[in-house]
Order: sequence, then C-alpha cells, then structure tokens
Amino acid sequence: MKINSPRGTQDILPPDSFDWQFLENKAHEISENYNYQEIRTPVFEYTELFNRGIGEATDIVEKEMYTFEDRGGRSITLRPEMTASVVRSFLENKIYGRAQPTKYYYIGPMFRYERPQSGRYRQFHQFGVEVLGSNDPDIDVELMAMGIDYLEKLGLKDFFVELNSIGCPECRPDYVADLQEHFSEHEEELCSDCRRRLTRNPLRILDCDECAETTGNAPEILDYICSQCHDHFAQVKEGLEQLKIDFHIEPHLVRGLDYYTNTVFEVKSHDLGAQNAIFSGGRYNGLVEEIGDRDVPGSGWALGLERLLLVLEEQRDEDIKSDLDVYVIKIGARAEKLSLSLLRKLRRAGFSADTDYGDRSVGSQMKDADRKNSDYSIIVGEDEIQKDSLTLRDMNTGEEKMIAQDKIVDVLADKIQ
Ligand SMILES: [Zn+2]
Ligand SMILES: [Zn+2]
Repeated sequence: MKINSPRGTQDILPPDSFDWQFLENKAHEISENYNYQEIRTPVFEYTELFNRGIGEATDIVEKEMYTFEDRGGRSITLRPEMTASVVRSFLENKIYGRAQPTKYYYIGPMFRYERPQSGRYRQFHQFGVEVLGSNDPDIDVELMAMGIDYLEKLGLKDFFVELNSIGCPECRPDYVADLQEHFSEHEEELCSDCRRRLTRNPLRILDCDECAETTGNAPEILDYICSQCHDHFAQVKEGLEQLKIDFHIEPHLVRGLDYYTNTVFEVKSHDLGAQNAIFSGGRYNGLVEEIGDRDVPGSGWALGLERLLLVLEEQRDEDIKSDLDVYVIKIGARAEKLSLSLLRKLRRAGFSADTDYGDRSVGSQMKDADRKNSDYSIIVGEDEIQKDSLTLRDMNTGEEKMIAQDKIVDVLADKIQ
C-alpha cells in the first residue's frame, strides 16, 4: 500500500523551503530590531490549557483540536495556537518575577482539524508575538508597527489597520446586554449557529459572515466604553497617527472571548485586495488570570505563514533560488582523490561547494554545475595536477584561469564576498 502524508498536511520541498527560510530569517531579523526574543514551547500541552486559554465555547476547542489520550491516560492536545502556551510558560517559569514587560516571538507549527483548502492546512505555521506585563497603549502600537515592518521587509506594501476597542470587564457587560437585546429582536434572521450564540456569546455573532446584514445596525461598543478604555483607545490612535500608519475604526470588530480587552485589530493591504487580514491580534489583559492566578496584562498578534507565502508568490516574479559558489569538476582517478580534500577545504573556508558523484563526463559535470546555479567551477584534471594548479572557470562569462592550488581559497574569496 502506498503511504501518503495525512490529509491537510504538506511536505515543504526545495525550492519552496528557501521561501520558508526567507520568511523565517526576516521574522528573526524584525524581532531583533524590536528587541523581541524567541520562545519555543512544546508542540503538545495538556488539553486543559487550551480549554481555559482559548475558551470552551469556541470553534477551535469544540471542533478543531487534535486531542488524544497518551499512554499514561492524560489528555493531550497538539497546540492549535501559541498564546496559551506562552502564558503557561510565563507562569510556570515565574517570568513575571523579572523586569517587565516580557517581549516574546515564536515561529512554529500549529494543528487544527479544519477543512483543508488553498493556503489552509491542518498542520500550519505561525509567526507571532506576545508582550506580557504591560498595559501601555504604546505596546499595542509597537506590535502593529512591527508586523507591518516585517511585511515591508518582504516587499509587500500599502497596509492599513482596522481598529476597534472591545472595552473591559467593567464597561463591556452593558454593551453585551444591549447587543443581546438587539439580536433577540432579529432572532429569526440569524443563522442556527448564531441563535445558539445569542445566549452564550452574542459578541461572536458580529464575526459571522452569514449574519452580516443583521449585524450592520447593531449597537457599537465605542458608545459604551468607560473613560479608562476610552483613554487607552485614544492613545493607540494617536500612536498610529504619529507613525503614519493608516487605520480606520471598525466598530463591529471583536474577539469573542471575555479575556480580550481594549485594542483589537486586523492588518490588511490595499495592494492585496482588502478582503483578508494578513495578521490580526489584540490585547488580552484577562488571559493570564484565566490560565493562572495572576493579573498580568498581555497583547499580541499571529500571522499565518502559508497564506503569506501565497501572497508573496503572487507578488514576486522571480523565485528564490539556491546558490552554489563553486562546483568541482573532476577528470580522472587522481582528480577524484584530490577533489575530496579540495571540497572540504572550500567548505571549511565558508563557500557552498558541490561536485559530481557519478563518474560523469566533463560535459555532463559542466551541465550539472549550470543546473545548480554555480557561480564558479574548478576543473581538476591531469594537467592541473602535474602543475599543482586548478582551473577556475567563471560560469557566467566562461572565462578560465589557472590558479595555484594553495591560492584557490584566497582567489575565490576575492571574487565572492
Ligand atoms: Zn472599560
Ligand atoms: Zn450567523
């Protein structure tokens, strides 16, 4: 029987893996610019963490988690997102006892049992950031700026932010009550999911595409937020203006969970059609307390790398290629021997170097060097060996030069910085 990869997963093969390295390298770079440090947590956690950290009444927890019992009878779940894990680690390792805030970033695979489609996989990857230990609105602004700067490093442009505040546990209940009343009056227009949400979590009705018409004239939370939330929101807006980040208020943008507070946002691009958010996030001052027993504010976002790659592929006309510095072409048995140590010398000197492994003709080796995009080739034949030399060939111009064997590293280093 032929064995394939599980439904909803994919192999990332070269040259696609170069694109992945490119995205990841830029993510490390931007994180260093903004002084965010990498955190790596286990790919699986106790299921209870996600029940508390994502919320039992969410699609993720209800339908999408990879949950199983391990051999010790514990309920384990493959992480469907990272924030809960980051908060768990923050508490477990008592990071709150150090100087705050703590600024983390992560890159890694997440797992959700969703219907696979273009750009959506059951094992997918996110680049995300979390800041714990500060309620400063500037953090929210910094987070948005950082994400946008990351995308600009990749060559994307024309971003704008859809922004809202979802208040706090003080001011939100009044809003939710009015929202519930509004939707109750329109109950027969709601989809069956949203009728369920009506009692459990009316905020999430605002997220439903099917019910978009009914939500159009629903009450807006900005009419309800308390003065503290209002101030926070004003400072976020001011910060975005100062950084000349284009934003508009989206009064029905929400996150349907109680631990979210104040800032919520989605970042989109005019350049890419303003339909889908490239990354989204918000402030979650209530989450740490939900998972542990500490009142620690937090804020963050996450970005799906599979979708970002689709976007980049559309935008870019040239593929990222692997680049070989030098290819060693061997003629004869003595050359074969010499090239073994020559290759190691080149590689240890920092060049990317390769050779033929199949006793092929000079012509085929030359073709292979071309196919591998090698900038130079070094030809080792009888003539060269007798003269203690090598022939260096520029693969772009075809120009050839005899070079003493002990000079080859220096000569190449001059040509390739
Ligand atoms: Zn408030
Ligand atoms: Zn609905």
